[in-house]
Amino acid sequence: VVDSRILETSANGDHSKKGGRDLQYLRTNNLWVLLSAIWEYGPVSRLDLAHLTGLAPSSVTRLIRTLTEIGLIVETGKGESSGGRMPTLIVPNPQAGSVISLDLSGPLMRGGIFDAANNLIKDIHQPFNGLGPEAIERQILDIIHLLLNEPAAGRHPLLGIGVSFPGVTDLITGDIRDSINLRLVRFPLSKILTSEFNLPVYIEKDANVAALAEHYYGAGRDLDSLVYILVSTGIGSGIFSDGQIFRGETGQSGELGHIIVDPGGQLCVCGRRGCLEVMAAAPAMLSSARWMVSHGRASLLASLSGDNLDRLSIEMLAQAAEMGDPIAKEIMANTADYLARSIATYASILDIHHMIIGGEVAETGEVFFAPLRNSLEKYCRAGLNIEIIPAELKQNTFLRGISMLTLQDLLLKQVQQMR
Ligand SMILES: [Zn+2]
Repeated sequence: VVDSRILETSANGDHSKKGGRDLQYLRTNNLWVLLSAIWEYGPVSRLDLAHLTGLAPSSVTRLIRTLTEIGLIVETGKGESSGGRMPTLIVPNPQAGSVISLDLSGPLMRGGIFDAANNLIKDIHQPFNGLGPEAIERQILDIIHLLLNEPAAGRHPLLGIGVSFPGVTDLITGDIRDSINLRLVRFPLSKILTSEFNLPVYIEKDANVAALAEHYYGAGRDLDSLVYILVSTGIGSGIFSDGQIFRGETGQSGELGHIIVDPGGQLCVCGRRGCLEVMAAAPAMLSSARWMVSHGRASLLASLSGDNLDRLSIEMLAQAAEMGDPIAKEIMANTADYLARSIATYASILDIHHMIIGGEVAETGEVFFAPLRNSLEKYCRAGLNIEIIPAELKQNTFLRGISMLTLQDLLLKQVQQMR
C-alpha cells in the first residue's frame, strides 16, 4: 500500500527548489508510508522496510527514530538472519492508545476495545433489543458504557470510536444515511457519540470494513485490490482498490444487493422488484425451500428441521445439499447463479479479479462455492480470470476492520501534527 506518487517525488531528489511546505508534506507522507508498511508487514526488519517502501535505508532509519520517539512503533525480538547479526524487528506500539469499535451487523450487537496495534483486548455482545433510532441509540450508548467500565478500558488512552453498520454512509456528514436492517434513516450517530464521549467517531459500511479486514488479516493479505462480497441476510459488497476503500461519489458504492436481476421478481425492501438480495440472499433461500417442501416435494429438509420448516436454517440447507438432496442443491445453485452473473458484471466493469466472499451463506463452504464457480464459467468473458476466494475471518471481521480504520486515521493525524 505504498503511494507511488510520493516515491516518484522522493526519487527525483530535487528538494532544493521545493518550499518548506512541500518538504513537510513529503516527510509526513514518508512517515505515513513507513507506518503503513509496519502495520501491514510487522514484525518487519529495517532492511525489509526499505525494500517494501522503496525508501533509502538511511531514510528508513531516520523515520523509524521519529516514529519511535512519538511512541507509534516499538522494537520487538530478533528476526532470522542469513548469517551475521540478527536484525531487530519493528511492530506497531500497542501502548500508543486504544479505540472502541462496534459491529451492528447482527444478529448480536458487538463491541470491543482494541489497542493501538489492533489487538482485541476485550469484547462483549448482546442481543438487539429493538430497532429504530431511539432503541439503537440507547443500546449503542449502553454497550459503550459497559466497555468503558471494563478494567481493560483504562489500560491505554482512548483515542476514538469506530462503528461498522449494515447500510449506507453519508460521505458529507460522515453519518448513517440509511440502514434498512436497523430501521434508520439519516441517523446522526456520529454527532450523538461525539457529544456523549467527546471523542472522534468513524462510521463505515460493514462490507467496506470487511474488505479492509480481509486485506490486512485475512484472505486478501497480498492483494492491493479486491472486492468483498457479503452473502448473508442481505447481500452487500465493499471495493478495496489500490490499497484504499473505494466509496464512490456519495458513499453508495458496492450496493450489489440492490441491482435488479429479475424485473418480474419478488418485491424488495427498497421498493423495487427482483433485486439480487431479495432473489438470492439467505431469507430468499429459506423461503423457497419452505415453499417447495410444503408443496409436496420430497426432501431431507423436512426431517433435518424436525418436521418444523420454521426452524430451517442455512446450515441445514447446506447439510442437505451435501447429502445430495435435490431441493437443497437446486436452491444453492440458484443463489450461486444469480451471484455469478452479478460478479461477472462487477469484475468486467471494475477490472478487479479477486472476489472474497463471506457471510453466513459463504461459510457453508464448497457446497456453495462449487456451483458458484461453475456458473461463473458460463458468464465470464474470455480473459477475465476471476478468482473466487472464501473469506478467512469470521466473527470479529467487522470489529477488527473498523478499529483498523479508526486507528489508522487517528495515528495518521498524530503523524501530520508533528513538526
Ligand atoms: Zn432492493
